[in-house]
Amino acid sequence: MTVDIFANHAHVFPRECRPEGSIEALLKLMDACQIKRAVAFAPFIDEVHDLGIDPNEWLARELEKHNSICGFGTIDLSKSDPARQAEAIANLGFKGVKLHPAYQRFNILADKLLDFYAAAEGLGLILCFHLGVHWHRIKDYHPLLCDELAYFYPNLKFTMEHVGGLSFFLDALAVLTNNLRTGNIYAGITSVLNTNQNLLWYLGPERMELLASLIGSSHMIFGLDFPYNGVAEVQEAIDVIQELELTAEDKAKILGGNLARLLDGSD
Ligand SMILES: [Zn+2]
Repeated sequence: MTVDIFANHAHVFPRECRPEGSIEALLKLMDACQIKRAVAFAPFIDEVHDLGIDPNEWLARELEKHNSICGFGTIDLSKSDPARQAEAIANLGFKGVKLHPAYQRFNILADKLLDFYAAAEGLGLILCFHLGVHWHRIKDYHPLLCDELAYFYPNLKFTMEHVGGLSFFLDALAVLTNNLRTGNIYAGITSVLNTNQNLLWYLGPERMELLASLIGSSHMIFGLDFPYNGVAEVQEAIDVIQELELTAEDKAKILGGNLARLLDGSD
């Protein structure tokens, strides 16, 4: 069965600062792996600092030419107005925001983020959190903090990328199952199925089947982690998902149906 793959979690950059992470390079990877559509994240502000551009505005402009890619924004935590940034991101037509608490060095429950979460919840923005050991004080981004987030913002939709990684898989699973009632939290199936790299986040096929039986395939969303993963890693992950002991319908949901439902309001 051929599946319309709609993948989450690509990082894109202006060619000048990261040629292998350009939008053109992403389109090539999508072509090679038969991916119909993808969500691309704007760079973090420090990654494009030397170019003096607004990463969200840059991405919105670039994507006018590419309707197979949906943009998600990023926020600049050195500024004091994260709720206004959420509005600006929504006004650009983006439907979500990538957050990397370890890389951006913030605590998931930090006071300065609270207005941002309320704004994102009100605007219906989907947040994608990097969760998984990433060389920063773990206290700031332990996946259990996401349970608090779900408690305080019951209508906030977010993905737990890497499902906490190998070390925190069970904690992430606790949060996902604990909040099934609202159905607003998704497991980000990103960089968790490669046997030669990303081993810190490696979960493998059995945990995918366990996840599907505990949270349902409708709460699992495939992601690329482009450009950190190339064609070989992305194809490996797609092949593992295609070979899971799940129905064709389940696999189609994981590989794109769920994301399409979330972003387009359809399957
Ligand atoms: Zn990422």
